[in-house]
Amino acid sequence: MDPNAFARDLVRWFRRRGRDLPWRRHRDPYRVWISEIMLQQTRIETAIPYYQRFLRRFPNMRSFARAPLDRVLKIWEGLGYYARARNLHRAVSTLVHEHGGRFPETADDWESLPGVGAYSAAAIASIVNGEPVVAIDGNVRRVAARLRNAARVSDAEVEVLFSASMGPHEPGLFNQAVMELGQRVCFPRRPACAACPVRRHCAAFSAGTTERVPARKAGRPVPHYEIAVGVCRKAGRILVSRRREDAMLGGLWEFPGGKIRPGESPERALAREFAEEVGLRIAVGPKIVTVPHRYSHFSVNLHAYECRHAAGRPRALDCAEVRWVRPAELKKLAFPAANRRILQTLKGDRGWPKT
Ligand code: SF4
Repeated sequence: MDPNAFARDLVRWFRRRGRDLPWRRHRDPYRVWISEIMLQQTRIETAIPYYQRFLRRFPNMRSFARAPLDRVLKIWEGLGYYARARNLHRAVSTLVHEHGGRFPETADDWESLPGVGAYSAAAIASIVNGEPVVAIDGNVRRVAARLRNAARVSDAEVEVLFSASMGPHEPGLFNQAVMELGQRVCFPRRPACAACPVRRHCAAFSAGTTERVPARKAGRPVPHYEIAVGVCRKAGRILVSRRREDAMLGGLWEFPGGKIRPGESPERALAREFAEEVGLRIAVGPKIVTVPHRYSHFSVNLHAYECRHAAGRPRALDCAEVRWVRPAELKKLAFPAANRRILQTLKGDRGWPKT
């Protein structure tokens, strides 16, 4: 592959056909950083409205650093992978309070911030600082493997391949062009080679092996859990608990409950979980709904039950915080997706709010 001719074809295509995305309209480090974090594990179409809403609410670092974490999580609600929001908030607060609001200037400096991995650091530094570093993720590895017709490529090989091409081009533009090619043309299955601007440089295309490289990894079985949660009511209020910040979905609110152990009924699991998590005795009533939900590494069925307070004062024994709230207050709190589906069922219930 001629690295210069490859880069020329790729960058020309990107300049003509690259999507006009909101974060591509400027090189403001804050905006580019927010977009790169939102795009981790998230489709572009999903991230756009969140990105726009986020910037309307927090137009700059200082306004973001001032916001309480609860408000940040509420804006992030539904986007998933909430550690991203917590890390971003922590990193921005550090820059504002300890570094006078100055942004990092190299990929290594960006990577030292919480939640900024090697890919994001390279993407941000190349776009914002013009640093010639190759941003490598799954899309970029796949494109590199096909260009070389290799079953596998190491990150070092990807770096050598694309560094040679980046040469005279703007590093940020080049990285975004490779990424766009992987997202819109060089699909994991059935790549659109007929529309590919770099097919004359592609060894897999020449060899007719585009469907076979890179070699696919065997999928791992996904664990599944049955979870019981209780919508516990007392005097017109509902009990909610906030997850510990170091836990998955940390900082979000939920209905208390937990995993049903082998041989345990959902009702017994709920009584046990309420005692362990919030120190309450409850009476378990009828089932409200079962919500199936998939996370990246496991799946759950969330069985939600009506419950009534029987004895005790709520204490945060195995959660960050616990509160009785009025139904109208629930919409101000950030809940994970499966809990939001329970909330929607409750709102559709003619008996809402029950006491
Ligand atoms: S020719 Fe096909 S396989 Fe090769 S880079 Fe283009 S889209 Fe990917």
